[in-house]
Amino acid sequence: NDALARAESLIDLTPDYPEPGVLFRDISPLIADGPALRAVADALVEPFAGRFDIVGGIEARGFLLAGYVAAITGVGMLAIRKAGKLPKPAAAVSYSLEYGTASIEAPGVLQPGERVLLLDDVLATGGTLAAAQQLIRDLGAEVAGSAVVLELTDLGGRAHAGGDVHTVFTATE
Ligand code: 5GP
Repeated sequence: NDALARAESLIDLTPDYPEPGVLFRDISPLIADGPALRAVADALVEPFAGRFDIVGGIEARGFLLAGYVAAITGVGMLAIRKAGKLPKPAAAVSYSLEYGTASIEAPGVLQPGERVLLLDDVLATGGTLAAAQQLIRDLGAEVAGSAVVLELTDLGGRAHAGGDVHTVFTATE
């Protein structure tokens, strides 16, 4: 698939960012390209077609993916926020980072049993996705699946996140 191959080439790499030893992937150039964005959005949802009621985007690049996928599939969108941004968080989940902890929150907009497709840009250790899955369950909804643009396969994120994780591209380290 030419559009997907081009989309993959549009992921920007930055060595030693945000700290030494980390090779940071930025999907901004991919998001900026119409055909690449369309191809990636189609690929993200393809295994889950007809099996979700709403898409959940994880702040911040997940919002961009979720908004687009919501528009092309005709569903709504749940914005999963970093802690402290929502006036009335309905649930919160804390998780460990390499240094310290982080927390994500969501507004109380899901119906009981509603099937949520979770979207994010990068799957690294899986901590963020595992927390988002827990958040959806805590809200009384169901995780239809999780899809990421790029999985860093050496970091064990797939095992940590568990469930049905779909990735469009993979990379090592
Ligand atoms: P994890 O929780 O799987 O270790 O890290 C995934 C989260 O951190 C995602 O929300 C993702 O956006 C961010 N992240 C981790 N590594 C990278 C990276 O190389 N590039 C980008 N853009 N985000 C990353």
